[in-house]
Amino acid sequence: MPTNAVNDIKSGVELLLSDSDCAGFINKLLNTAADIKNSSSRPNTDILGQFNTVLSQGGLVWGVPGESNPGGNLEGQNAQIALSSNFQFGRQFVENQYEAALSAIHETIHLVGSARAGQTGSAYWYGDVTLARAVDKMQGLKESPARSVLEASTYWSRALKDACTKPKNWK
Ligand SMILES: [Zn+2]
Repeated sequence: MPTNAVNDIKSGVELLLSDSDCAGFINKLLNTAADIKNSSSRPNTDILGQFNTVLSQGGLVWGVPGESNPGGNLEGQNAQIALSSNFQFGRQFVENQYEAALSAIHETIHLVGSARAGQTGSAYWYGDVTLARAVDKMQGLKESPARSVLEASTYWSRALKDACTKPKNWK
């Protein structure tokens, strides 16, 4: 992935997380997910720090078909974020820098779960279905009917986007 694209995503992630609505939502989301999992330990809610750790481990790669995905795990020091090939870099990148930064945050949230679970590979502690249930809980909603992973992913991504709105000064 081009270095300037990585830096653009990094500055995008920093900008979004500097907003207290966005950071506060993620903090609550992670803690609610931990409650759902009956976890005795609290998740690391320093998403920017965790994102930077991912960058220093497996880093960002680009070009997977379909949805973006997390890979590896923080504990194993091989955490990685694979961004969808739907994101275009270069000239068009400015237009989807916001979406790419949101996607990077989404995958980092999955990886934070894997760090705590001591699990490897695709056994993420905070899966899409758990995170969707966490959003329901935060909004005072009853548990919704079973969702597919894709439905769950779309659902909590929407809530993340609502909390982490595109800043007016986005370049
Ligand atoms: Zn997901």
